[in-house]
Amino acid sequence: MTETDAVPTFAQPWDVPADVRITGVRAIVTAPYGVPIVVVRIDTTDPGLYGLGCATFTQRWKAVVTYVEEHLARLVVGRYPGDIGDLVRLAKFSSYWREGPVGNNAISGLDEALWDIAGKRAGQPVHELLGGKVRAAADTYVHSAGRDIPGAVADARSKVEAGWRHVRVQVSQPGAGTYGSAVLDGDTIDGVPYARGWRVSEYLSLVPRLFEAAREELGDEVELLHDVHSRLTPKQAVTLARSLEPYRLFFLEDVLPPEHWDALPQVRAASPVPLAVGELTTSVTDAARLILGGGVDLIRSHVSAIGGVTPARKLAAAAELVGVRTAWHAPGDTSPVGVAASVALDVTSPAFGIQECHVFDELTHEIFPGTLAPVNGWLTPNDSPGWGIDLDENLARRYPPGLSSFDAWAAGVRGLDGGLLAP
Ligand code: MG
Repeated sequence: MTETDAVPTFAQPWDVPADVRITGVRAIVTAPYGVPIVVVRIDTTDPGLYGLGCATFTQRWKAVVTYVEEHLARLVVGRYPGDIGDLVRLAKFSSYWREGPVGNNAISGLDEALWDIAGKRAGQPVHELLGGKVRAAADTYVHSAGRDIPGAVADARSKVEAGWRHVRVQVSQPGAGTYGSAVLDGDTIDGVPYARGWRVSEYLSLVPRLFEAAREELGDEVELLHDVHSRLTPKQAVTLARSLEPYRLFFLEDVLPPEHWDALPQVRAASPVPLAVGELTTSVTDAARLILGGGVDLIRSHVSAIGGVTPARKLAAAAELVGVRTAWHAPGDTSPVGVAASVALDVTSPAFGIQECHVFDELTHEIFPGTLAPVNGWLTPNDSPGWGIDLDENLARRYPPGLSSFDAWAAGVRGLDGGLLAP
């Protein structure tokens, strides 16, 4: 293959309305609360008509920016923005080697920005273009954590008192923090190669005690959730799931690393609690295999990591047909535009199960006017055209991203012998 700047003919082989064309595609990165948020902006020949899409891959954001601005822009500039299906397939197939989180996040930025433009042109919110609401709002779950069981339960209680009906509960364990809760200062383990090592035996006995206390303190009304974060073997996963049966979890999340997902159908068959899986899917096909293969009760892909709303709505449809529910991944590493996209899917899909919720700070609301805010745990979509989210680029520029922490965040868990564990 010879390198050339000449772009092959990517014009659509059909007639399109003459009124509007794509004139520019850019990636904007901002980190108002430390997490690099990546948003794609598509401009058009109509100066007032532009779209925003989420392309947030915090650990490799620079690669996404390059993908968008060096590779995608030249494919779609000059094209009619209404051909969303063709443009995202063009973006996907043009690299030949498809899938992967860098490419999919970049394509998601394109896809969601095109849906935003479509909504603005139609004068309708995107959820109406997706078929309209089947519910008024999305019920959400929020995170709680503590350094010990009483602390974790107290934090969960504060979330219930703030209006949430679904709370994820995590607790630290001696030596190392469990996922979602802090490493305990000064608490180390003697006589082992790695004094801050994570012990699976300690974890498997701690988590049932945590949920026994949570049920006792919080009663039966609240729904309780827990995230294992991919650290168990299939047998350990079944042991944990069975030990949690008395506490009626809403879901138990990511019991296995993605490398072992083939074992999920057996684990799910033996689990008395619902399994939620999928935030590490980086391919809509892999996510569809999880749904259709009988390995999950709730699918929770990160919408931008599988390529945006266009593939995610297909997953929601597949989930609806086989009785799986959705729980899109959306903590603080999803942009406000990405949250709006997830909520548009939530309110339009009968397969909706629950929505993960991050409470954005005031500054992020200023940078992204229209950012959704939970009320009593409910997220309600904007009724303005498109996503109803804007971006103040001048303000965003004042909070530049760095590489200091998030590019290596996940490689921080080791066993007692010092060996790295799946994050
Ligand atoms: Mg998770």
